[in-house]
Amino acid sequence: MDRIDLHLHTTASDGSCSPAGLVRLAREQGLRAIAVTDHDTASGYAEAARAGRELGLEVVPGIEISTKFNRAVHILGYYIHPEAESLREVTEGLVRDRDERNRKIARLMAADGLPVRYEEMRQRFGQVIGRPHFAELLVELGLASDMQDAFARYMERGQKYYLPRTILPLERAHEIIRQAGGLPVLAHPFQYRLDAAGLRELIETCLESGLRGMECRYTGYSPEQVRYLETLAEEYGLLKTGGSDFHGQAKPQVPLGVGLDVPYAWLEALKEAV
Ligand code: AMP
Ligand code: FE
Ligand code: FE
Ligand code: ZN
Repeated sequence: MDRIDLHLHTTASDGSCSPAGLVRLAREQGLRAIAVTDHDTASGYAEAARAGRELGLEVVPGIEISTKFNRAVHILGYYIHPEAESLREVTEGLVRDRDERNRKIARLMAADGLPVRYEEMRQRFGQVIGRPHFAELLVELGLASDMQDAFARYMERGQKYYLPRTILPLERAHEIIRQAGGLPVLAHPFQYRLDAAGLRELIETCLESGLRGMECRYTGYSPEQVRYLETLAEEYGLLKTGGSDFHGQAKPQVPLGVGLDVPYAWLEALKEAV
């Protein structure tokens, strides 16, 4: 009953569970606390917090911001104030930028005769629309067998319907999170395919911008990998966090909070550090 999951997506970004639905699911799994960490927005938090109060589940406000190091790096922000003006300005800017790119992708698809209308996507998927939503449409249209296939054939860099969007610099993501009162945490450190020296360089660069924690437990990480990350976090004086990166049906291979064994004590340490 002391397990938590601090990395979860909802329909506010590219997850398939509503914020309230996510809370119900977490409760069913017997979790004690969760964090809502949608891409580029904290707009799912209010609904999740309400459901959390009703069902007796602690809900932590969070966000996940994509940045650029020498590759894409994701920075999580915990205990950001979801209503902070500074945060809203940035997230609205990110959404506008996404919108521009997304409209172009939708136009490319429409030009190929696919029945894709961006306004309809907005109605169906909400504010933060990303490549996963386009991938989902391609699967529905029978052009791909599943999400992975849709990405590999159409949505990954170099493929037909890939278009880049503006990515914030690493320092800027830390600054945004700190200005909104939150703690910047390096997400899923093994996803960047860095060698040991590269990972240290990334951590040290982040530390210069105010990094406070590192995600040490994550779906698919082996006990050896987890031990390695925990040792590294301790060496650098970083707080430890962990989460599944659950997206619901959008990433059916990633379950919520199962087998990660992220202890509640880690959340207590985060709270003390805010
Ligand atoms: P966007 O921010 O709209 O460019 O989309 C990026 C999102 O697409 C990431 O957060 C991932 O969730 C998802 N994604 C990227 N590559 C893949 C892939 N190969 N398969 C499935 N999902 C992917
Ligand atoms: Fe995602
Ligand atoms: Fe991520
Ligand atoms: Zn994520």
